[in-house]
Amino acid sequence: MSFDGIKYLWMNGEIKPWAEGMLHVASHALHYGSGVFEGIRCYDTDDGPAIFRLAPHLARFYASAELYQMHIPYTPAELEAAMGELITGNGFTDCYIRPIAYYGYGSLGLHPRNTPVEVAILTWKWGAYLGEEGLKKGVRVTFVSWTKLHQTMMPTTAKGCGQYLNSILAVREAFANGYDEAILINRDGYLSEGSGENLFIIKDGVIRTNDEHSSILLGITRDTVIQIARDLGYRVEIGWLRKEDLLTSDEAFFTGTAAEITPIREVDQKIIGAGERGPITTEIQNVFFAAVRGREARYRHWLSPVAQTVASSRGG
Ligand code: PMP
Repeated sequence: MSFDGIKYLWMNGEIKPWAEGMLHVASHALHYGSGVFEGIRCYDTDDGPAIFRLAPHLARFYASAELYQMHIPYTPAELEAAMGELITGNGFTDCYIRPIAYYGYGSLGLHPRNTPVEVAILTWKWGAYLGEEGLKKGVRVTFVSWTKLHQTMMPTTAKGCGQYLNSILAVREAFANGYDEAILINRDGYLSEGSGENLFIIKDGVIRTNDEHSSILLGITRDTVIQIARDLGYRVEIGWLRKEDLLTSDEAFFTGTAAEITPIREVDQKIIGAGERGPITTEIQNVFFAAVRGREARYRHWLSPVAQTVASSRGG
C-alpha cells in the first residue's frame, strides 16, 4: 500500500489536495479513538469503475455513528457524490475507499460536547490485503492470547476507531509468532473473527459462520458470501463456532472488504483440509470476483457505477 501520488481527498465538504488533509494534534479522536469509519472497494468493471455494495456500507457507517451518538452532518448522497468525484479526480479504477467521521478540535474532555464532528474520505490503491498468494494458496493463522473485545464492552457491530486497538494487539502477536493473521476467541470461549475479517468454515459440504452474538463486526463481505453460497445451493448455518470446529474443518476462509475471500490453510501448525485453497472456497471466490467485476448478471445491483454517481450529483 502506498499513498504516493494520490492527488485528492475529501474533507468536511470539500475536495482538497491530498497534502492538505491535516488535523490538529489536539483532536479528540486522536486521543480517544472517538471516530467511526468504513472500508469500501471500487472495482474496475466492463462498464468502468463501480463501488461494490455501497448502500450497506453507507448504512453501517451511519449506524456506527448512531451507536456513539455522533451526528454525521452530510447525507449519504453527498458522501456518495464525494466518492465519485474522488475516484474520478484521482484517476482510479480499482481502489479502496475510506470514509471516516471523528470528533475534531474543540475540547479534550472525554464527553465530546463542544467538539465538532468532522468527516473525511480517502481513496487509495490497495491490493490483496493478505497477499495475492494468500488469495490463491491460503494463509497461516494463529489463535492469539488477546480476547476479542466483548459486545458488552463496546458495540462490536460498529466500526469504531478505538475498537481497533484490540485488533492491533492481535495482529502484532500473530506476526510476531510468524503467522499471517490472528484469530480472536471471544470471552465466552467461542471463535470470534480475524483482526479485520470474518470467519467461515466448511465441513461435509456445509458452510458455517457466526453472528453478532459472537462479538463480531457484521461484515458486508460475510453477507455477500452467505448470499452467493446459498444461491450456489449450499447450506449455510449461522451460530456459535468452536475452536475445534475450525481445527477439524475441511476448508476455512476469511472474508472482508480488504481481505476479500482469503482461504485459511493452517491454524497453529494444524493443516486445514489439504493445506491449500479448497474446492468450495474456490467456487465461491470465483463467483465473488466475477460479481465485483460486473460479470454476474444476478448481482449487478450490488454495483454503483462511478460514472452514474458523478453524473447524477452534477445534475447531468
Ligand atoms: N471484522 C472486522 C473486525 C473488520 O474490521 C472487518 C473489515 N471491515 C470485517 C470483519 C469484514 O467486514 P466487511 O466485509 O464489511 O469489510
